[in-house]
Amino acid sequence: MTELIIASNNPGKIREMKAILAPWFGQVLSMREAGVDTEVEETGETFAENARLKAQAVCRLSGKPALADDSGLAVDVLGGEPGVYSARYCGRHGDDEANNQKLVREVTPFAPDTRTAHYACTVCLAYPDGRVLEAYGECAGLIRTLPAGTGGFGYDPYFYLPQYGKTMAELPADVKNGMSHRWRALQALLALLEAQK
Ligand code: IMP
Repeated sequence: MTELIIASNNPGKIREMKAILAPWFGQVLSMREAGVDTEVEETGETFAENARLKAQAVCRLSGKPALADDSGLAVDVLGGEPGVYSARYCGRHGDDEANNQKLVREVTPFAPDTRTAHYACTVCLAYPDGRVLEAYGECAGLIRTLPAGTGGFGYDPYFYLPQYGKTMAELPADVKNGMSHRWRALQALLALLEAQK
């Protein structure tokens, strides 16, 4: 397989997935580059359901293999919130600043070292013949109430990685893209593809 469409309109995800997948595929196209214009409603209750909805919709529209990621942040003291609702935690889809403000408000009552969390990512690769491949990855950290860093996207300035002594937003892109939940899910997917060869 040489051509792959990233079934996402999120520029942060597209950038990261292209960087991770470039060595593996001849051409990795965004939906815009492939001429596919759609916003798939995320009506699923799990990352896997939503990833599959997005991948299959874009695959149907384009007639080409499509790869979707559904991902989010799960904070333990918040019972796993915002979880599948991470992109619309504040009530509006994709407002990172308002989502981060709400996250800070919710975790502030808890002691800093109890704010354990993980990013989770399910990727789904859908083929025009109806086959799907799915894989999962996660990445653990702690939630901070003061932002640091300008890299990444979404909750990254508040997601602290003790092993690096930095937030995800402070890491260079190639470091994030070599250890993130998205990277882990894509590695697991690539292993499935290798096993099929
Ligand atoms: P969805 O997968 O399109 O439903 O949205 C995922 C949401 O989870 C994003 O809008 C972010 O709020 C959050 N998220 C997922 N991955 C990351 C990441 O790598 N960094 C920061 N936030 C992320």
